[in-house]
Amino acid sequence: MLSSMCTEPHPAARRAAERFLATNPGDPASYPAVADLETQAIEYLGEIAGLETPDGYVASGGTEANIQAVRAARNLARDGTSADGESVNVVAPESAHFSFHKAAGLLDVELRLVPTEDGKADLTAVEAAVDEGTALVVGIAGTTEYGRVDPIGELAELARSVGARTHIDAAWGGFLLPFSDHEWTFADAPIDSMTIDPHKVGRAAIPAGGFLVRDRALLDALAVETPYLESASQASLTGTRSGAGVASTVAACEALWPAGYRENYERARANAEWLAGELSERGFPVVEPELPIVAADLPQDLFETLREAGWRISRTGRGELRVVCMPHVTRGTLGRFLADLDSYR
Ligand code: PLP
Repeated sequence: MLSSMCTEPHPAARRAAERFLATNPGDPASYPAVADLETQAIEYLGEIAGLETPDGYVASGGTEANIQAVRAARNLARDGTSADGESVNVVAPESAHFSFHKAAGLLDVELRLVPTEDGKADLTAVEAAVDEGTALVVGIAGTTEYGRVDPIGELAELARSVGARTHIDAAWGGFLLPFSDHEWTFADAPIDSMTIDPHKVGRAAIPAGGFLVRDRALLDALAVETPYLESASQASLTGTRSGAGVASTVAACEALWPAGYRENYERARANAEWLAGELSERGFPVVEPELPIVAADLPQDLFETLREAGWRISRTGRGELRVVCMPHVTRGTLGRFLADLDSYR
């Protein structure tokens, strides 16, 4: 499996998930044990993302967290409309995950996608796209296709200049970036919200997405009253949620933060660089990995043959082979992949 951003849960995360299968953090007054675990989960995610007093919740995944970020910003921005009564807009690089398209459609906001340069948001294009109707500027810390990290500080400054909020999508990159020298955290820039998913590189069980906010007001902007529950309001998008996701997030973080995640980052980075070098030596043009995703131009028929042979591989929008070096992807697996590739070309 070389195409997925999900991986094998850590054994402790698997055990915790099973223990909490029948609990619902969406109803914290009825399920106080899992509610306490969710507080711990958010503390861990806050520590990883450089947020001293974190708030947020464990969502169903990065899609929900991104939708919620757009929803909160829209709800707080001039009651959802710009000064001239038009719907508000969200500015994001074209590398943004397709969940932002879902968010825009659901929430009736205009999604302004701006070009990228070397896979990263082009700041001149962002500056030209933002205006007084902009509710949110999105930056990606680890893009889905190429693992690129946008210039987060500069994006946040541009957002501020028009009174907009900043959301960082670190759904995939969040458990890798603490060990790199990128600036991406709440401590590095005036970020308002972040997506950081335990069920990807965090090795929690699916479903476990992370939605973090600097200011509680963003969660309040999402909350609805919950008359028939013991608790008074609910900020999550889904009602019943997975206690398994919450409990396994805490178990994975207890087991792996920080040493285990650092080890994973180092291994994944070395594997990505090795694979990129091997593909390049064979004459396939390679996109230099920044975080451990390798993209390379492979002939179409070779790609198809490898898929038919059972390799789970995917393609970028431009048609390149895309290999995500997740924790389950070992040097041995990559060596076998290259051996197959050599035998079929
Ligand atoms: N954001 C990024 C950067 C992603 O790579 C993904 C999924 O790959 C998502 C959001 C969506 O996450 P999910 O599939 O958990 O909803």
